[in-house]
Amino acid sequence: MTVPRRFLLAALLCVFPSLRPSVGAAQASGADVGRLVAALLGDTPMLRDVEQLTDRIGGRPTGSDAYRRAVQWGLERFKEAGVDATAEPFTMPGLWLERSAAATVDGQGVGFRPRVASLPFSVATSPSGARGPLLDGGRGDSAGFVALGERAKGAWLLIEQEELKDLDGLFKEYADAGVIEARAWKAGALGVVYMGSRPDDLLYRHNMNLGFRNRDHLGLVMERDGALRALRLIRAGTPLTLTAVLDIQSGPGYESANVIGEIRGATRPEEIVLIGAHLDSWDLGGGALDNGANAALVLDIARQIKRLGLRPARTLRFALWGGEEQCICGSWGYTGRHAAELDRHVMTTSIDIGTGRITGFFTGGRAEIPPAVERALAPVGGLGPFAQLDVPIVGTDNFDFMLEGVANLVANQESANYGPNYHARSDEFGQVDQHQLRLNAAIIAAMTLAFAEMPVTWKRQGRAEVDKLVATTDLRQQMEEFGLWDDWASGARGRKRP
Ligand SMILES: [Zn+2]
Repeated sequence: MTVPRRFLLAALLCVFPSLRPSVGAAQASGADVGRLVAALLGDTPMLRDVEQLTDRIGGRPTGSDAYRRAVQWGLERFKEAGVDATAEPFTMPGLWLERSAAATVDGQGVGFRPRVASLPFSVATSPSGARGPLLDGGRGDSAGFVALGERAKGAWLLIEQEELKDLDGLFKEYADAGVIEARAWKAGALGVVYMGSRPDDLLYRHNMNLGFRNRDHLGLVMERDGALRALRLIRAGTPLTLTAVLDIQSGPGYESANVIGEIRGATRPEEIVLIGAHLDSWDLGGGALDNGANAALVLDIARQIKRLGLRPARTLRFALWGGEEQCICGSWGYTGRHAAELDRHVMTTSIDIGTGRITGFFTGGRAEIPPAVERALAPVGGLGPFAQLDVPIVGTDNFDFMLEGVANLVANQESANYGPNYHARSDEFGQVDQHQLRLNAAIIAAMTLAFAEMPVTWKRQGRAEVDKLVATTDLRQQMEEFGLWDDWASGARGRKRP
């Protein structure tokens, strides 16, 4: 389906009334912003790009052949657009790819084979599988573990989950999982089996909280109906055994690559405004909402700026990150590689919540940033309303910019269909809201042009300010939920002390 022309015209009409050259403090001419917005709402190759990433290349976990093809593809798209681009290496701490996963549940007179998916970073089983009692782990709360007692040792623990409805449910899954897994390993469980939280028996990847630090533990997600059946049987008094065969390709650290495009600034080229979206995805689906659509959005903004011959004052960088799903490692690598330039990164923006409407930005808990974002969004006020949430947020590629004190934004979006399809088999091209993706591109593009011109009233934060941000917000809890706290606490990540 293409975007009906009348929608585009209606969108343009909303945009243009607010395109006054005198808007805010931004110096980007209203005409430039208007031309760029009009171009992005028109017939660009953006959707072709999403289709190629998802249908031709497909799911592209970092370390896979598909990811390597995606990097080449990204380089070619920038080159085709006349935008300078390079594949910049970064280090992945390890390799983790699932080849296959299968499970058999059996007990007195019953036997069935529910579909399962390995939790990323689960260890592999032997070819004949890991076999153990399948026990009712309840919701994985502490009372449940007390009730299980010694029986948990050497057993698969089946954890019941709510059906996932929205982003709040997704955040809760992450928040609960770290605690549940810690209890399970302490109790000596053989492995954790999450009841699938998605409707229609969708399978999905849910990272094990230990990440690449996991050396011993097994984990999987079982299709919802299979898990419900197993639980009913167990609760009716039928002891069950689970045999899981997880065939996993794992290995030591290796080099992967981000794709970084650049349009050099006309008058302040040493100052950098960066927008980025991760190019990697999980592998069960094609990685359309997460995050092929937004990788294509970033590419198309670069393409249209180049095509229109716009030359903003500051340098624009367009980042297609790798390693995001596994450890947010691509953008981390970038902050190390470009450490000497970080003082001169004026603004960095990440887009990673599918194709729901952009409602504003997470501004990182820095009071000086929301007013600047408001000014930058003024030319596309008609695509709002926008509201900024001035809190730090963990879970995507702003993370290391934030810990390095660099001004960072994450597009806040209506969750739309993002939650149910997250990391799931169903994250395919057909889920993309094509009309809204174009509007989102217009929003990000206008804001980026404004940041490339406007007077800057903020600076990179020093270590003391970053420490204060961590101490006075819920950052620690968020980092723990994503298994990232140790990297910060050990000094592996974040701004070095002076
Ligand atoms: Zn993502």
